[in-house]
Amino acid sequence: MLKAEEVKRAAREYGADLVGIGSIDRWDHAPVENHPRTIMPKAKSVICIGFRVHRGSYRGVEEGTYFSAYTLTGFSDINTIFAPMVQRKLASFIEDHGYEATTVMYSSGRLTTPPGKPALGGDGTAKPAPDVFINHRIAGVLCGVGQIGLSRVLLTPEFGPAQRIFFLITDAPLTPSPILQTPICDGCRECVRHCPAKALLSNEKDDVDVPNVTLIKRFSLDEGKCALAHGSGALSPFAPDEVKAYAQNIIDGTKTHTADGKPRPSREEIAANVNDKVSYARNAQQYFHSPAGLCVGQGCLRACLAHLEKRGALTRKFQNAFRD
Ligand code: SF4
Ligand code: SF4
Repeated sequence: MLKAEEVKRAAREYGADLVGIGSIDRWDHAPVENHPRTIMPKAKSVICIGFRVHRGSYRGVEEGTYFSAYTLTGFSDINTIFAPMVQRKLASFIEDHGYEATTVMYSSGRLTTPPGKPALGGDGTAKPAPDVFINHRIAGVLCGVGQIGLSRVLLTPEFGPAQRIFFLITDAPLTPSPILQTPICDGCRECVRHCPAKALLSNEKDDVDVPNVTLIKRFSLDEGKCALAHGSGALSPFAPDEVKAYAQNIIDGTKTHTADGKPRPSREEIAANVNDKVSYARNAQQYFHSPAGLCVGQGCLRACLAHLEKRGALTRKFQNAFRD
């Protein structure tokens, strides 16, 4: 019988910085369109593997002088090179022990526009449309790897907000990792203060109750504003002045209206006015197959990292402070 400890040891040997396991019953209340069993009906366990984002990949972003290290090694390389290699090796390890293992990719959700046609079950009813996509951050919590901060970002005791996580679903019955109980997020709101897009709405809650497992407390997110700054780079040093002014008018407005009182443009209209005008963001997508993370280098995340380090809350220590 394959043991959880053997799987965890193999994952670390193959290069994962973090690993945890969730038993499938922790997803009992998940919507069918996000459920691991919709992908693998006989699934017994979900394995989370995590990869640190090097603190140094944020250094040039902190200085406002060098963004590519984060875009490439902190984001794209992990997504497209390191994580898939470890997922593949771990899947082979599990299948060598006689169990099936399905890798769940970070970006598969982006391939589904429009969604595929639903398959029919044995009774003729439609299954959820492919590709089904599990909620990664919540799955990280259910695998005992981290907690979700008010910023909605997964925080781990070792790296705080600085890692990326990936999954395997398996029919191997593995002993689950405990859900982390000691709070990491202390509600400081540094993430809110340092979001250049004013996208985190600290006066609106968007909690997720996972019955019998955990209650996840999060601020609400204005996804349109976040996408404008994070993926499109409309506030970045690479944006032309007219794009910045266009974006700022939206960011200074509400969910429904721009700062100058007009109805907020649709996502398609915003994309037409911004995408392709920030060449760095366009090229990152083209060459690295990833968003550039250009909201001045994920301001929410770096502020959280600086805060948690200063508080001494992380087990990974550095000789020099991330931020003075
Ligand atoms: S910055 Fe503060 S409030 Fe925001 S997620 Fe981090 S610890 Fe929580
Ligand atoms: S990812 Fe960027 S735009 Fe989105 S909430 Fe964080 S700092 Fe704001």
